[in-house]
Amino acid sequence: MIHLPELTSDCANCAALCCVGLTLDKGALFSFDKAAGTPCPNLRGHLCSCHETLEEIGNRGCVLYDCAGAGQRVTQMRFNGESWRDDPTLLPAMIRDFEQLKPLHERMKQLREAGQVPLPADLETERQRLLSKCARLWADTPALAADYDRFLSALAQHHTA
Ligand code: SF4
Ligand code: SF4
Repeated sequence: MIHLPELTSDCANCAALCCVGLTLDKGALFSFDKAAGTPCPNLRGHLCSCHETLEEIGNRGCVLYDCAGAGQRVTQMRFNGESWRDDPTLLPAMIRDFEQLKPLHERMKQLREAGQVPLPADLETERQRLLSKCARLWADTPALAADYDRFLSALAQHHTA
């Protein structure tokens, strides 16, 4: 049995990582430009102030967006529920980890969905192999990021000592 993380977005337990981390390009999906790393002007705390009217204001892209559960995983698992709102120095690492975890979560979600219909034995074996590999990477990636941050911090202390 492969242990998978939650693969559905849980915005209530996330620090709005998509709304701060992503680039928005004005066009068919978004009504304004926003740079990555800049909080969306519609964000209030961690909540979208126009959540009920996203389509009407031209932000269909926000409705379509799905982080596959990576946002709350980074916020809760890697940062213990802390937020860049309270400590802006966390923002680069939060965005970095979100960018690393999101593709893994998306792949796990696709692979899980692919298993909902019967597959030939060779495809099913490969599906399970890939799922297992993604799950291991998912487990290792935040731990590696934490080790990396600890190393950088120790290195900075070493250079200032
Ligand atoms: S990153 Fe995911 S969980 Fe967080 S606010 Fe965006 S969609 Fe919701
Ligand atoms: S409009 Fe709302 S959902 Fe879209 S990025 Fe801004 S705060 Fe997030």
